[in-house]
Amino acid sequence: MTWPATDRYHLVHADGGLGFVQDLINTLPAGRPREADLLAELELTQRWLDGALARWGAESGVPQDRIVLDEKDLDGLRDLRTDVYALVRSHGADPGSALTRSVSLAARLTPDGVAILEPRGEGWRRVGAVVMLEVFRAQQLDTWRRLKTCRNERCRVSFYDRSRNNSGVWHDSRQCGNAVNLRASRARKRQRQTDDATQDAIG
Ligand SMILES: [Zn+2]
Repeated sequence: MTWPATDRYHLVHADGGLGFVQDLINTLPAGRPREADLLAELELTQRWLDGALARWGAESGVPQDRIVLDEKDLDGLRDLRTDVYALVRSHGADPGSALTRSVSLAARLTPDGVAILEPRGEGWRRVGAVVMLEVFRAQQLDTWRRLKTCRNERCRVSFYDRSRNNSGVWHDSRQCGNAVNLRASRARKRQRQTDDATQDAIG
């Protein structure tokens, strides 16, 4: 069983069920050649969700009923992804609207006396409840700060930072770190040339 969105970018998985939050972000189109946006249309989105939810059920030990999506859920899911991306990227700033609106969880005891939280609701709201549950859990366990998005704006994939001091900013420092540094140094060079040209014109 895979994390269907994350695995297409060959990324390090987040711990346990937090992988679901990472997987939602990684439905974004990224990579070279560009992978598909898995929330682009209903059939693709349903296939992604079936896979991710099966994996989440296995990670959390509580098998999940299928969440059946319809066309109306697509906008909700895309908004949710945008908000989760912003939340992970900023780590603390305003999480936006879709996440704070109308997701509900229920607490119950299993027959063997284990207290669990369960997502409630239909469609995208139920997906939002899974996300909120895992954000809550990760914040309690202090693994939340290790879930990150790549600082390269052309990449943006979500990776899990297992480094000792949690200092990673690129999903792959060779691939994305070098590319960004190269672009910055080219831009500086162009700027210098423009400055020199202006100097010549004035001089
Ligand atoms: Zn990257």
